[in-house]
Amino acid sequence: MVIPSLIQHKRDGHALNPAEWSELIRQYMAGRVPDYQMSALLMAVLWRGMSAEELAALTDAMIESGDRLSFEGFAMSRVDKHSTGGVGDKVSLLLAPMVASCGVAVPMISGRGLGHTGGTLDKLESIAGFRTGLTLAETRAQIERIGCAMLGQTPEIAPADKRLYALRDVTGTVESIPLISASIMSKKLAEGLNGLVLDVKTGSGAFLPEPARAIELAQTMIGLGQVRGCPTVALLTAMDRPLGRACGNALEVEEAIEGLRGNGPEDLMEVTYALGVEMLLLVGAARDVAEARNRLVESVTSGRALEKFAQVIEAQGGNPAVLEDPSVLPQAAEVEVFRSPTDGTVIRVEPRRIGQAIVELGGGRRTIEEGVDPSVGFVIPTKPGQRVRTGEPLASVFASDKKGIDIGLTALKEAIVIGEKGRLMPLITHRVTADGVTAL
Ligand code: URA
Repeated sequence: MVIPSLIQHKRDGHALNPAEWSELIRQYMAGRVPDYQMSALLMAVLWRGMSAEELAALTDAMIESGDRLSFEGFAMSRVDKHSTGGVGDKVSLLLAPMVASCGVAVPMISGRGLGHTGGTLDKLESIAGFRTGLTLAETRAQIERIGCAMLGQTPEIAPADKRLYALRDVTGTVESIPLISASIMSKKLAEGLNGLVLDVKTGSGAFLPEPARAIELAQTMIGLGQVRGCPTVALLTAMDRPLGRACGNALEVEEAIEGLRGNGPEDLMEVTYALGVEMLLLVGAARDVAEARNRLVESVTSGRALEKFAQVIEAQGGNPAVLEDPSVLPQAAEVEVFRSPTDGTVIRVEPRRIGQAIVELGGGRRTIEEGVDPSVGFVIPTKPGQRVRTGEPLASVFASDKKGIDIGLTALKEAIVIGEKGRLMPLITHRVTADGVTAL
């Protein structure tokens, strides 16, 4: 296989055939295609798109790069949720234990930070000792024992996504409907699910900001899921401002724990409950929306969801003391408050600028080799539409040094726009199923 010819073919707007895609992924995983050639091909895909046949072949090749979780002989239904990526989006940390504590198994395979967005794995790993690299056997055993496992792509599960994801993160090749679809669905279809709920972000901080593109992304992933025996539903949710208040790995873990205690920010809980309702309905664990929502609310008020998270942390080697004492999480050396420079109404809190600043502070990666500093980030209780006064605290920056504080304060000055009239996108805008799109 002559890789430069394939790159040129794709670059010039032609489709590769399914056999070429599967061979390409095989060769890449065998180390016979270097990252620089794969990066060029990914960039060609980003510009040229993929036919449905190409996307199906790429997704299947990525699934086949590893094994699948097998739940043969396992009676419990299995469901999962995945987000297309946001800032402050810690929903998975709440949702997996909430749904599992309702008696539905959640074998959740997540990713690391991608571009300006955070990743569930990086967040979980801010809990000392938490191991996201579970084997297939460990995952299955943990699901049988406690009904929930939260892990990453490994050499066994979706390894092609692990490598392509890391490459896309640092080569400007994230914002592509086929690449996002293949990435998400290759992980999820390896999980042996009975249902999948997608949180497709829309708005300026989403990889695909325009609602029409977000709907196209949702429909593309739903199509891949349905054909492969995994009923899939999507909600489009707002990413024109950060979700919740905390943005940054350890800060988000702390907020998620507060949410599991029943003290989460309203927007975070609303999105979490809405996605949870879809998860329970999809596998028939509730008769209707009201029953599903009650069960989820009850999982929080009864403390069962928090207890389930404790079980997951213990099972995966993390320090469960984090649940009682968030100060065991990595702490930033420097913290500073950002105050409103003027009176007025908050018009925008731009999530993309906040996410980029987290990467600059070391909370995300600029190269594949980089680790992340889990302690850095922002807490931004301010939302668009809110009236503010000069000198009022709007947000806090958490950084490892004074230079980081300056970077954070500059980002907040640019991200928080104050004027006369603020407008907030509805939190959940559309529901997309195999049958069509409903505006909410
Ligand atoms: N989440 C993923 O798993 N992959 C993407 O490409 C984007 C979001």
